[in-house]
Amino acid sequence: MHIAIIGAGLAGVSSAQRLQAQGHSVVVYEKSWRPGGRMSTRQTELGGFDHGAQYFTARSPSFKKHLAQWRKAGWAARWEAKLVSLTAGKHKPAGRAQQRFVGVPGMNALVRAMADGLDVRAGQTVKRIERFGDQWLLSVVADTVPIAATAGPFDAVLLAVPAEQAAPLLAPVPAFAKQAAAITMAPCWTMMLGFQESLDLPYDGAWVEQSRLGWICRDSSKPGRRAGEHWVAHASVAWSIEHLEDEPERAREKLLKAFHEATGSAVQPVYVAIHRWRFAQVPAPLPQDCLWDAKLRIGVCGDWFAAGLEGGGKVENAVLSGEALAALVG
Ligand SMILES: Cc1cc2nc3c(=O)[nH]c(=O)nc-3n(C[C@H](O)[C@H](O)[C@H](O)COP(=O)(O)OP(=O)(O)OC[C@H]3O[C@@H](n4cnc5c(N)ncnc54)[C@H](O)[C@@H]3O)c2cc1C
Repeated sequence: MHIAIIGAGLAGVSSAQRLQAQGHSVVVYEKSWRPGGRMSTRQTELGGFDHGAQYFTARSPSFKKHLAQWRKAGWAARWEAKLVSLTAGKHKPAGRAQQRFVGVPGMNALVRAMADGLDVRAGQTVKRIERFGDQWLLSVVADTVPIAATAGPFDAVLLAVPAEQAAPLLAPVPAFAKQAAAITMAPCWTMMLGFQESLDLPYDGAWVEQSRLGWICRDSSKPGRRAGEHWVAHASVAWSIEHLEDEPERAREKLLKAFHEATGSAVQPVYVAIHRWRFAQVPAPLPQDCLWDAKLRIGVCGDWFAAGLEGGGKVENAVLSGEALAALVG
């Protein structure tokens, strides 16, 4: 079959890999310039900052199998981090029970390596999908050309985008659109900090309590990163929701203050950047693996499906959901 996949994050790339290996002709449309999605690494003159997903864990046997292959290929590695919970400068050990993994040399490197050999049309946003006989046409806008072009026809179309972005595209399949519209994804303000001198903090990452921040991480402590004192800080879900429409300058000022308060360090950064994720994580996923209509040959996958796990919104959900959908397509 000739199959279009919308979204080159982990879910889209996982399903594309599997379908291509089964002999299908697969085209992946991605609105950004590179595959990765929320497995995102911002390149700066100081090196990369993982400003989306921070690390991942592996619970299911099938995901553990993938992880073993990625580690063998050098695309992922274990992050042996000292993690704590932090309240107003005071810390205590936390999160010891789990093993954590990261993409190498950045989170997005894993998705890029997986996407190697796939036909990914980057910088192309799918605006609409419509029936064409018993096939599908896509209306696609490229960053470089302001008018939409028609792509297809495709025998099947798979959506691998956050729920809020999937819902309007799913207009031709109201039952799926309704399920996507029922999901609310939590936003996240993210701050990236580069320091010239060490902060001398005795931990690599911390869940922050009683703060505008929910998580901070010494990004440069992850394997394969450039040396230096680079930190990523995520605002709490509550603060991100309340301040979603703040000017970036204002959010940056507030979060930098919170970083100093939480760590107790007065060292000033030489680099500060801020990013707003409107759709970051999924508090309550759909319980199934994915959605698939075998008659219309349209499907949906992503981290907003539990896919056999407890909870959603994680790297492992995205991979398992993408693979489950590919298995149904056959
Ligand atoms: C701040 C933050 C922190 C996180 N921390 C963790 C963590 O520590 N551990 C963990 O396991 N997970 C974490 N996550 C979640 C993890 O990143 C996601 O679960 C996973 O990356 C989702 O993959 P996905 O393929 O489902 O979606 P995405 O990665 O969102 O991929 C969707 C892709 O579709 C593209 N797209 C959207 N609309 C269109 C369109 N119309 N046309 C073409 N392309 C389109 C997007 O550009 C994107 O590349 C975090 C996420 C964020 C944002």
